[in-house]
Amino acid sequence: MPLDERDLAHLTRCVDLAEEAVEAGDEPFGSLLVSAAGEVLVEDRNRVGGGDGTRHPELALAQWAGAHLPVGQRASTTVYTSGEHCPMCSAAHGWVGLGRIVVATTTGQLTAWRRELGVADGGGPVRVATLPVSAVLPGAEVDGPAPQLADRVRALHARSLRR
Ligand SMILES: [Zn+2]
Repeated sequence: MPLDERDLAHLTRCVDLAEEAVEAGDEPFGSLLVSAAGEVLVEDRNRVGGGDGTRHPELALAQWAGAHLPVGQRASTTVYTSGEHCPMCSAAHGWVGLGRIVVATTTGQLTAWRRELGVADGGGPVRVATLPVSAVLPGAEVDGPAPQLADRVRALHARSLRR
């Protein structure tokens, strides 16, 4: 499905959250969970700066849905995110049964940017594969990226990786 104005507004909010994350010493990722009626149910940003590398916003949203959203309502939600889910977050999305995913930027773009910026993937002693959502959730509906937001997201990653 092509992105509309409402999608772009939600994705812009995700990038704003990613910027907040960088300013707080975390990594530049932000996400929203939106209901079928278009209401933002919850939003979060990356919080890995304290040393817990699992504190990704897409995982937090999936866990929020698991705790607060009736099973029957989950597939009609949309998760907006500044950067495509990692394998951990893709799996959480699938296990909880959330719906459409809309990404401002893809895993492929991030991998290319990290290479351009001279940073290897992974970071830790055990590398997590940089799989696209479709490799973990073959049936998922994934839309994006939004080319309008690419330069801004790339700049946030450059800022985050330089420190
Ligand atoms: Zn993740």
